[in-house]
Amino acid sequence: MLIPNRRNVNLAVKFGLHWLNRQYFQLLSDLQNCPLCLTLSILEHPICVYCLNDLPWITRACRQCGYPHDHAIDSCEHCFDTQNVFSCFSALAYQDAVKWMFYRVKKHRDEPIARALSDVLAIYLSQRRLHPIPDAIIPIPTTKQQRRKRGFNLPELLIQYLPANLKHLYRPILKSHKPNAEVKHLSRAQRIATNHRFSVSGPVPRHVVIVDDVITTGATMMAAIGALKAHGAECIEIWSVARTPLSHSHEN
Ligand SMILES: [Zn+2]
Ligand SMILES: [Zn+2]
Repeated sequence: MLIPNRRNVNLAVKFGLHWLNRQYFQLLSDLQNCPLCLTLSILEHPICVYCLNDLPWITRACRQCGYPHDHAIDSCEHCFDTQNVFSCFSALAYQDAVKWMFYRVKKHRDEPIARALSDVLAIYLSQRRLHPIPDAIIPIPTTKQQRRKRGFNLPELLIQYLPANLKHLYRPILKSHKPNAEVKHLSRAQRIATNHRFSVSGPVPRHVVIVDDVITTGATMMAAIGALKAHGAECIEIWSVARTPLSHSHEN
């Protein structure tokens, strides 16, 4: 039995203070601001639970192209492709706070918001996706001009913030040839007709995922799917953080 004496008491006090000190700094490092409402708390996700609940989640959508509908259906009039060889998961409707989040990331490279968008995608996939882990996760590429202007490619940034079991599958094997600005002001039909091609710079595994930030017309996706299918991809999934209504076609 330990007999209390001055040395033992001093040691116990010292140990206790050290423990409290560690807990205090741990608490400080765990505290973070929700990037949307700026509430300071210990967050399980980059966005607080209240803001997460307020986001415009796409809860019912076409199982193929991911376009929002009143109820879940297997394919719809907006499907990019009638051959049912892919499935698209878009987490949010591109509106309100979501537009602001993309503005912050694209114009100011707001890393906490980028991490939050990636987390939103991961949450959505964990709740809805039933497929096995893919062989490769491929970002929609940007052109050299766009990368020089913005300094980064958002789909690549989103993949870097995905959970560890997904982000190590990152394979940037798609290359873009034409500047996306050329198709930016075209209608959906014109964009789909426009043959803005991608090339493939490495072996393509059987089951691949294409990641984009926002989908509007699906024309970019069709081109990417075509390029990957031509190089041997058999099962193609599309993951995007957001999706616009077809009438607001200002993204790719
Ligand atoms: Zn919040
Ligand atoms: Zn559809």
